[in-house]
Amino acid sequence: MLTDVSRVPLRRALADLPAYVPGARAAVGAAAYKLSSNENPYPPLPSVVAAIADAAVDVNRYPDMYATELTEGIAHRLAVVPESVVAGTGSVAVLGHVLTAVCEAGDQVVLPWRSFEAYPIAVTLAHAEQVRVPVLADGRLDLPAMAAAVTDRTRVVLVCTPNNPTGPAVRDAELRDFLAAVPRDVLVVLDEAYVEFVRDPQAPDALALFAEHPNVVLLRTFSKAYGLAGLRVGYAVARPRLAAAIRTASTPFGVSHVAQLAAIASLRAEQELLVRVEAVVAERTRMLEGLRAQGWAVPDSQANFVWLALGDRAVTFAERCARAGVLVRPFAGDGVRVSVGEREATDIFLEVAQAHAPR
Ligand SMILES: *Cc1c(COP(=O)(O)O)cnc(C)c1O
Repeated sequence: MLTDVSRVPLRRALADLPAYVPGARAAVGAAAYKLSSNENPYPPLPSVVAAIADAAVDVNRYPDMYATELTEGIAHRLAVVPESVVAGTGSVAVLGHVLTAVCEAGDQVVLPWRSFEAYPIAVTLAHAEQVRVPVLADGRLDLPAMAAAVTDRTRVVLVCTPNNPTGPAVRDAELRDFLAAVPRDVLVVLDEAYVEFVRDPQAPDALALFAEHPNVVLLRTFSKAYGLAGLRVGYAVARPRLAAAIRTASTPFGVSHVAQLAAIASLRAEQELLVRVEAVVAERTRMLEGLRAQGWAVPDSQANFVWLALGDRAVTFAERCARAGVLVRPFAGDGVRVSVGEREATDIFLEVAQAHAPR
């Protein structure tokens, strides 16, 4: 038997990193609704499955390195130049490439917390230092405090909107004030993984802000609204000079041929997919109203999940949900994030929530 006696030193920063915790999966053969990873509950459209099957016959070849057709399709859809679009292996990977493209060792990255758990990992791997700014009690980002946290060492600020896992989106007016306060040589990353689910009329038009502010970068993904989480494709929208740097920092051939064709087919089927997004938004309203009627104080959600600030009871509550047949995502000591999925899943979840309602 081999024992691990390797003397290869590991990077010290890695020892301090929390591992990314994936949402719970159902045991093989067990019936459970998976509301733990903010996935789209709908299976891919037949036209997308057909594109995936077509792509399969070419996988002995490397994919188009720059995902040219997809990049052009996205650029056309967003009315930006194709030079501004950089596709990657999911927007989490693209975020890593953005950070490696701009951060020198020891630079600071300001981020909200609690927010997306991939952020601290990505920042540390980019040899940068994280500066966490607490989100407010109502789950909203504290943009004035984030602006105030910017120093001479700050290279990037991450703005997660809607914020995962708490749910609210930033407002246009506060984001404009924030952008006015942040120096122009600090990159502001607007992570809009859930933008298609936003219905708050006060939410920003990020493309307009991108047009006005050269230091703004958008991150978007096909994983959530477009239902392609399993194929790993997301993108950044950045000014061409920065976009070129992000491409340089990217994993070569990061977006597979299958993912490229599926994403192109999804752009073509956008109207059909947005009908599903609308159904998820309606189900979100049912979940929020159900919880509030039970007495829960739930932050506004503009995404495909809701947040219960359960504190120390988070893990126990998640266990109760699992026993009832719905898998949710606990953040120990903090809260539970519940993705919006099937109607039946909402019903089961609301029953468990009723039994634990704060009254
Ligand atoms: C899900 C999510 C992403 C997207 O991840 P992919 O790598 O594109 O699957 C990015 N940012 C946030 C905040 C998310 O919740």
